[in-house]
Amino acid sequence: MNPVDDTIFGKITRGEIPTEFLYEDDLCVVIRDLYPQAPTHVLIIPRQPIAMLSAASDDDQALLGHLLIVAGKIAEQLGVQDAFRLVINNGEGGGQTVFHLHLHLLAGRDMKEGELAQGLAR
Ligand code: AMP
Repeated sequence: MNPVDDTIFGKITRGEIPTEFLYEDDLCVVIRDLYPQAPTHVLIIPRQPIAMLSAASDDDQALLGHLLIVAGKIAEQLGVQDAFRLVINNGEGGGQTVFHLHLHLLAGRDMKEGELAQGLAR
């Protein structure tokens, strides 16, 4: 990979930065967000470094589906399966700061009130 395309999530998924994996398989890892925006805030990160959702291709269909299935399993593992939100920030204007596709799973606070964007309000 071109080093300029590497990110902190590339290093984490490759195990180069020691990080607790709440879950891992051949395709993805799940870690706790360093700056949680909710009592439960984890990141589902594919090992394959797709920069952002809009850069995904038809070839990534199975991987993207897998990430959603893992999200559901992790929600259950964390006991939040009845009330959680998934967020994908796409592009700088969309609030993305790490350009390695990832899903945010947020739970443990009121998700019904306020703007939808409060899913990841900073
Ligand atoms: P986004 O803004 O959608 O790109 O999300 C990036 C997320 O990664 C933010 O919520 C950060 O708090 C989180 N983050 C950045 N560095 C780390 C890290 N080393 N370990 C865990 N989470 C991180």
